[in-house]
Amino acid sequence: MTADRRLTGSAVRQLTLPTEPWLSCEDCFDRMDRFVEAVLVRPRTTAFPDMRLHLAGCPACAEEAESLLVLVAEEHGVDPAVALAGLLQQSR
Ligand SMILES: [Zn+2]
Repeated sequence: MTADRRLTGSAVRQLTLPTEPWLSCEDCFDRMDRFVEAVLVRPRTTAFPDMRLHLAGCPACAEEAESLLVLVAEEHGVDPAVALAGLLQQSR
């Protein structure tokens, strides 16, 4: 086995992201619905900065938010790509 355990540039960035204001995955989950709806209505909204921060550093929650966003977008007849772009853009 010659597994390459070196960190990539993006992995390092993820590990060194600011973690304030702190939000746990549980808190993130609790607010996911409201966050996704806010992004859907206004893709460029700056609401929920703590959510965005958490999603930027937590791939599991980010994935959850993305799939929920796509689901809700389709439910409302909105193009998910637009809302998704807003989500990704803002979470940087
Ligand atoms: Zn999380």
